[in-house]
Amino acid sequence: MSKSDRFFDQEHIWHPYASMTNPIPCYTVISAKGVYLKLKNGKNIIDGMSSWWSVIHGYNHPLLNKALKKQIKKMSHVMFGGITHPAAIALCRKLISLTPKKLDCVFLSDSGSVAIEIALKMSIQYWQSLGQKRKLFLTIRNGYHGDTFAAMSISDPKNSFHKIYHNLLPKNLFADAPVSSFHDHWNNSDIISFQKIIEKNSHKIAGVILEPIVQGVGGMNFYHPTYLKKIQNLCQYYSIPLIFDEIATGFGRTGKMFAFEYANVIPDILCLGKSITGGTITLAATLTSRKIADIISECETKCFMHGPTYMGNPLACAVANANIKILNTNQWKIQVSNIEKQLLKTLSPLINHPYVINVRILGAIGVIECSRLINMFLIQKFFVNNGVWIRPFKKLIYILPPYIISMNELNKLTNVILKAFDHNSLFL
Ligand SMILES: *Cc1c(COP(=O)(O)O)cnc(C)c1O
Repeated sequence: MSKSDRFFDQEHIWHPYASMTNPIPCYTVISAKGVYLKLKNGKNIIDGMSSWWSVIHGYNHPLLNKALKKQIKKMSHVMFGGITHPAAIALCRKLISLTPKKLDCVFLSDSGSVAIEIALKMSIQYWQSLGQKRKLFLTIRNGYHGDTFAAMSISDPKNSFHKIYHNLLPKNLFADAPVSSFHDHWNNSDIISFQKIIEKNSHKIAGVILEPIVQGVGGMNFYHPTYLKKIQNLCQYYSIPLIFDEIATGFGRTGKMFAFEYANVIPDILCLGKSITGGTITLAATLTSRKIADIISECETKCFMHGPTYMGNPLACAVANANIKILNTNQWKIQVSNIEKQLLKTLSPLINHPYVINVRILGAIGVIECSRLINMFLIQKFFVNNGVWIRPFKKLIYILPPYIISMNELNKLTNVILKAFDHNSLFL
C-alpha cells in the first residue's frame, strides 16, 4: 500500500468496531480466489473466517460471478414496491423449498440486523392484529443479533459491543443461557430460568428469539438440542411466536442445512443472511408462516409496515440463487463433515495447554476458548506473517473456513494456531 493510501484509510475511514484516533492498522486485500486473500505485498494468505461466515464456496467463484454478470446485463436494480422480477421469485421459491413446510412467506431485506428488526416488527404487528399491545421479547444471555437498536436490545446486555447503549434500549427479558453443551448430557435445570420468566410474563411477551444451537460472537457456545425442544414446547403452550436467528448458522455451517434441524424444532419466524449470497453482496430474508402473515395483514394498516429501498435487489437475488444451486449439489455435507473431523483431530489436543479452557468443534466451526485475553494487534500480525487470516476476539480464537478448503490448507490454518500457543507474548 502506498504510504498515502494507508494514511488516508487510518485518517478517514471507519472500520468495524474500531477507533478513529488510534486504529489498529488494516491489511489491504487486492483480490481473493478460493480460500486465498491476496495482499498488496503479493502474499496470499488462507482465509479462516469466510469473511464473517459468508464466503462458503470460496472467493471469486465462477458460478457466482456468472450469475452476477448475467443479471447485470438485464438490470442491477429495480424497486420492489409494485414491481416484481424473476430473480426474486426464483429465490423465494428456493428459500421456501429449503426450509420447513410451515415457513411459507418471505420478506427480503438488505442485512442481517434488518432481518431481525423485521422479525421483531412482525411479532409486534401480529399481536396488534390480535388486539394486544405486546412489546417484550424473551431471549437468552450471550446472544448476538446485530447492531441496530432493536437487535441490540435482544443481544447480551453485558456484551461489550452494546453496553454503553444499555439505558437507551427497550428493556427485554433475558433467561440464563443453557450450560449443557451440544456434546454433553442434557441437564434439565438449564430450562428453569427460561421457564420461570415465560410463566410470569407470558401475557406480555411478543416473541421469543434466539440463535439455535450455536451462539455466535456472543460467546461461540454450542448448546444442547433438548434446550430448543423445551423452548418450542413452552412457546407452543403459551402461544408465543418463536423466532430463530440463523443468520450465522444457516446454509450448512453446523453440518445441517439449518442448525435447528439438530433439535427437530421448527420456528414460526426464521431470519437468514450472511452466507445467503455466498459472501458476494449483502442480502437477508425473514420467513414466516402463512398463519402469522395472514394475521399481520389484518392489522389496522392492513399491511406489514416495512420496505427497504434495495428490497429484493436483483443482483443479490440472482447470486443467492446460484449460491443455493451450488449447495443443492450436496457437496457441502461431505466438505463440512471432513472439516469437522480434521478440526477435531488437530485442535482437540490444545485442551492440554495451560492457556486453553475449552476446545469446541461443530461442523465447519472450530473454537478455542482461552483463559487469557488475546493481544489482537500482535496475534493478527503473527497470523498474517504465517500466511493465514484469523481474527480472534476477547478470549476466543475461532475459525470458520470456506467449505471448499482442502485438508492441506486446513492443516496449515490449524498449525499456525497451534504455533501461536508457543508464544506467551500473544496473550495478555
Ligand atoms: C452477523 C449477525 C447478525 C447481523 O447481521 P448483519 O448483516 O451484520 O447486520 C445477526 N445475527 C447473527 C446471529 C449474526 O451472526
